[in-house]
Amino acid sequence: MDIHEYQAKEILGRFGVPVPRGGLAYSPEQAAYRARELGGDAWVVKAQVHAGGRGAAGGVKLCRSVDEVQSYAASLFGRQLVTKQTDQAGKGVYRLWVEPACDIAQELYLGFVLDRKSERIMIVASAHGGIEIEDLAETDPASLRRMTIDPAAGLVEFQARELAFGLGLKGRQIAQMVTILQACYRAYRDLDAMMVEINPLVITGAGDLVALDAKMSFDTNALFRRPQIAELRDRSQEDPRESTAGDHGLAYVGLTGDIGCIINGAGLAMATMDMIKLAGGEPANFLDIGGGASPERVVRAFRTVLADRNVSVILVNIFAGINRCDWVAEGVVKAYREVGMTIPVVVRLAGTNVEEGKAILQASGLPLITADTLAEAADKAVAARPKLAA
Ligand code: GDP
Ligand code: MN
Repeated sequence: MDIHEYQAKEILGRFGVPVPRGGLAYSPEQAAYRARELGGDAWVVKAQVHAGGRGAAGGVKLCRSVDEVQSYAASLFGRQLVTKQTDQAGKGVYRLWVEPACDIAQELYLGFVLDRKSERIMIVASAHGGIEIEDLAETDPASLRRMTIDPAAGLVEFQARELAFGLGLKGRQIAQMVTILQACYRAYRDLDAMMVEINPLVITGAGDLVALDAKMSFDTNALFRRPQIAELRDRSQEDPRESTAGDHGLAYVGLTGDIGCIINGAGLAMATMDMIKLAGGEPANFLDIGGGASPERVVRAFRTVLADRNVSVILVNIFAGINRCDWVAEGVVKAYREVGMTIPVVVRLAGTNVEEGKAILQASGLPLITADTLAEAADKAVAARPKLAA
């Protein structure tokens, strides 16, 4: 799983990597506000997308006035940024990061990757950064330095110093580099990362090392134990249909309709889809939340279904055998509050602990539409859809 540059900078900063101050913006006005707040007379505005190569694609710009920040931001928002690292559809720009411009004397490359051959984390570094590692490997392979880290000893200081010297760093830059390397290594190891890349790591005009760009990617299979990392997932940067399939034990298949389905059991899910069609609606998805679904898994099911922008109503249909209606109800209530639900939700519960489940729904005071039978639930879901403008 990838995260945004600003998120990677925040994480690495916490581990001790020097990163520039900056501010996040969701609108051109907010970008201008961020620039004013940061102060100074030059800023770099950076599109936050899950892809590198933004600089060459027009997604990074040095701006010399607040007006320029705002107008450039206005040109970026909502755009699909196509870079060397994206497909033709590109990545949607919904967040911008604004930083005070940095005075760059030299750009270095620093990357941490998993080297499967040595079964170790490997550092790749070059004194000639700022361009993609793939290009660097082609145009300037001699500049690349590699070093693997013994997992038992960790990244020891002499190793880090050796690398710093090898990159031609001088004076206090050596100690700064040791700090940066050890911080990146700890972040990589402690957070189950798959990749940490700082490109460029710059030497400023004043002679200090600063991470001007940052990229982190995480092991999806370890996200269950890194909830704070999992939270950083940005679905706007993923194909929602692909990414949600197989997500956390939820069997999800995207369809073309607008009625989102949250069901337990594949058979009941199929039957529910048939009932929706019979009632005159179209299901947006097949989703089986599986047996023994905790409230958390139900919340996840809601998020998965809501990632599809076509969904205009949700139908929850549970026939609890192994499942428990009270858990599902708890999940529904939790999800409703957490996601800030704006569309109708129809809930039909039957089976284990159904009375407890219904009581939880009722006590929540939420505007849930309840049904007792599958047919009733399907009818209510179809009826609850917003009328399409003619
Ligand atoms: P990427 O193209 O997606 O990897 O985005 P980067 O964050 O690496 O930015 C691309 C390039 O923009 C960098 O290699 C720098 O040369 C330049 N850049 C980024 N921030 C600054 C800055 O604060 N000042 C200056 N002068 N250049 C910057
Ligand atoms: Mn970069």
